[in-house]
Amino acid sequence: MRYVSTRGEAPSLGFADVLLTGLAPDGGLYVPETMPSFSADELRAFRDLSYAEVAERVIRPFVGGEIDDARLAAIVRDTYAAFDHPAVTPLRQLDSGFWLLELFHGPTLAFKDVALQLLGRLFDHVLTERGRHVTVVGATSGDTGAAAIEACRDRDAVDIVILHPKGRVSDVQRRQMTTVDAANVQNVAIEGTFDDCQDLVKAMFNDATFRDEVSLSAVNSINWARIMAQVVYYVYASAQLGGPDRPLSFAVPTGNFGNVYAGYVARRMGVPIERFVVGSNTNDILTRFFQADDMSIRPVVPTLSPSMDIQISSNFERLVFDLFDRNGRAVAEAMTEFRRCGRLSLGQNRWRAAADLFVGECFDDEETVATIADWYRRTGETLDPHSAVGVGAAARHRDGAALVALATAHPAKFPDAVARATGVRPALPARLADLHTRPERVAVLPNDLATVQDFVRRHARTGKGAPV
Ligand SMILES: *Cc1c(COP(=O)(O)O)cnc(C)c1O
Repeated sequence: MRYVSTRGEAPSLGFADVLLTGLAPDGGLYVPETMPSFSADELRAFRDLSYAEVAERVIRPFVGGEIDDARLAAIVRDTYAAFDHPAVTPLRQLDSGFWLLELFHGPTLAFKDVALQLLGRLFDHVLTERGRHVTVVGATSGDTGAAAIEACRDRDAVDIVILHPKGRVSDVQRRQMTTVDAANVQNVAIEGTFDDCQDLVKAMFNDATFRDEVSLSAVNSINWARIMAQVVYYVYASAQLGGPDRPLSFAVPTGNFGNVYAGYVARRMGVPIERFVVGSNTNDILTRFFQADDMSIRPVVPTLSPSMDIQISSNFERLVFDLFDRNGRAVAEAMTEFRRCGRLSLGQNRWRAAADLFVGECFDDEETVATIADWYRRTGETLDPHSAVGVGAAARHRDGAALVALATAHPAKFPDAVARATGVRPALPARLADLHTRPERVAVLPNDLATVQDFVRRHARTGKGAPV
């Protein structure tokens, strides 16, 4: 299995290098050169398997033998044994032919755990085999930081430093990061904004000497291994609901287009999926694109579903690559033009091909709250604001065919919005019930590059990518 860049100019790589590299050196994203696929009989056999067993079969062809099969199976089993629910991503019925796929049973109660829990273990395995060590540095406005920390904690080959803007993340979000008791985890509250945190991280990556000195690394949303891990629950849900003999549609609350793109990959691997309903909040660039061929950038507006407050969906480039018949040069031109003039143009035929498979729907905060209230009244299910956007989008497209809406966060992660809609403040699961009394560990630093670099240097266990 080889991986090529969507911009066509970077050398092809194997799985382990793609895992450690993230973005391709030509600015593109890695995708498999050829897509593995399953026969109808193979898909039918998945009905009798556990989540981890399906995961192992879906992931194996992407790894292409670079991790020994038995070892890979053990890593996958270990990853999903740590989830709160035996089905890992359980289905709950909302109505006839309409289900919720709960993706929030991981350690931080959000769907990013499904991929990041595996990614942390794969990182650790590959780095240890290569005798290397990295320092993961990232900035967070809340959610991804906790998922990245839980993914990297206690891993021998990784240190992680996460910057958040002091006083500007919610209590639950901050405590999910700062109460993690692991020697290789550092939290830094920056006296500044989220943008300041991001600028500090960018500046650290742009400082080549520093980058080498601490072997700087990231676990960003464009890493192929994250997509690969997310393909699994589409395959699993389809099998549980009678696939491949029963086609489904999926509704997905979307930000960076990683989750819904994973569904598209599942479809290319043979899972019968009729349509994807792409749910957005007020940041509706994807809705405008799928509805009216208008992909133009507007300023980001803060909403009740902050993990979807995004204007440029980075993983969309992977779909663009297919729409351009995998012509990297054409993708590079289109994306450069997009960055330059703020509008992406694919041409009428390519847009039509995309709009045949994806439909877009958007919800403002008021509609989101109304959706939470409505489903709570009708079914007793409590949706978080992100999941509500997916369920609401799905409800606009119920045409008798079986439909699955993805629930991406536990309602207790966003208690204020949920209480506003239902009058009930959702409780954290028992495992996190004492979150508010656990001791916190956090360093407060000024918004100053040299100070932050010095902090990272002091906490990176090895320098120069030296053997551990
Ligand atoms: C990240 C996130 C999303 C958006 O997923 P993408 O893969 O970026 O489209 C939706 N909901 C929640 C809760 C998230 O954390």
